[in-house]
Amino acid sequence: MRLYSTNNPESFVEFGEAVLRSLPADNGLYMPEHIAQLDDTFWNDWKGLSFQDMAFRIVSALLHDAIPEDVLEEIVDDALNFPAPIVALDEHRHVLELFHGPTLAFKDFGARFMARVMAWLTRNDKQTLTVLVATSGDTGGAVASAFHNVEGTRVVILYPSGKVSGLQEKQLTALGGNITALEINGSFDDCQRMVKAAFLDPKTSKRCNLTSANSINISRLIPQMLYYFEAARISNKPLTFVIPSGNFGNLTALLLATRMGLKVNHIIAATNVNDVVPEYLRTGDYNPRPSVATLSNAMDVGAPSNFARMQEVFGNDWESMASMISGFPVSDSQTRAAIRTVYEKYGYVIDPHGAVGYLAAEAWLKEHPKDLTVILETAHPAKFSETIAEELGHGVLDVPERLGCLAHKEKVSIPMAASADELIDWLVLKTNF
Ligand SMILES: *Cc1c(COP(=O)(O)O)cnc(C)c1O
Repeated sequence: MRLYSTNNPESFVEFGEAVLRSLPADNGLYMPEHIAQLDDTFWNDWKGLSFQDMAFRIVSALLHDAIPEDVLEEIVDDALNFPAPIVALDEHRHVLELFHGPTLAFKDFGARFMARVMAWLTRNDKQTLTVLVATSGDTGGAVASAFHNVEGTRVVILYPSGKVSGLQEKQLTALGGNITALEINGSFDDCQRMVKAAFLDPKTSKRCNLTSANSINISRLIPQMLYYFEAARISNKPLTFVIPSGNFGNLTALLLATRMGLKVNHIIAATNVNDVVPEYLRTGDYNPRPSVATLSNAMDVGAPSNFARMQEVFGNDWESMASMISGFPVSDSQTRAAIRTVYEKYGYVIDPHGAVGYLAAEAWLKEHPKDLTVILETAHPAKFSETIAEELGHGVLDVPERLGCLAHKEKVSIPMAASADELIDWLVLKTNF
């Protein structure tokens, strides 16, 4: 499998290089040169397969021979060891629960697959692979959990001191083992700047065998295709997928799935007030801008990093993108009201991100009442227990064991000034050559 950069369709890299580099040097995004169509054998069998067996067939068709089949099968089985169940609210409204992984958000699918692929790619390296990641909250937790105890790897997470929630901080700092949390006296932007400086310093990057677990890594998108296939098995009718979106990785993954042959009726890009993409779909004008803080904070993105990939899929043609995808922005007060409505009407506790999706589905169903909508529930509501308690009172939430027990674990972090030089010195000091 070869990939090209969206900024230079003439130059190609192999899959392994795209995964370990994450970003092409020309600042584009890696895209597969050729997206395999699933064949009749697959479509004859797909409804009878287990989630993992189906997943393996899809990924192996896409990756072709980039990873030997027996290895890939093990990676898929091990990474996707939790389900993606679909819950019917009623005949036209379904919720695809993507929060059954270890950190209770859909990012576990991508991060767990990426960790295992990276470990395999570097299996013959004598030196430990160091995954360097800056986080404003959720991504760091998913990446830390995904790499925890993966042989030949260590993770160094930078997070802004005092600027992530208590539970999020525990997800970063309580694992121990091959996970180290650096608590930066600065902002998320400082953390990102420091990480970038370490990568750009060729000596450090090479000596410490650095790689990035950035969300635009192609190996994080690939497993995100799989739950769309899983959901589509509930009906013979093509579904309308409603995707609460921030960087649009989830939505891009669905576009790749459609290129492999998955039939969908329509796609809804549900956002909070950070509505750069809905605006583009409506007007054809793309105006990235600084993000605004909202209740659905994992979607507070003003310049979605996968937008270039979406454009690539549609050959930079606004009309064809707008005919397949509709955008729908939602305010915080609407989000709060939707959390109450979903609970009152269906007895279902939905998180603020899923609530944004619910409202977008309602808007769509008003005009297309016969459609079957599937709303992606991207995080477990217990991760947003304060908002849920404000709208629904206490006692409606089941807090999963793996979240509840974090509260009692000890936080271990290394304080550091917001200085790239300090990070580089520390990395070199802590690396065994
Ligand atoms: C990351 C995230 C999103 C946004 O997903 P994108 O792929 O960036 O569009 C939505 N909801 C939750 C809970 C997330 O963590």
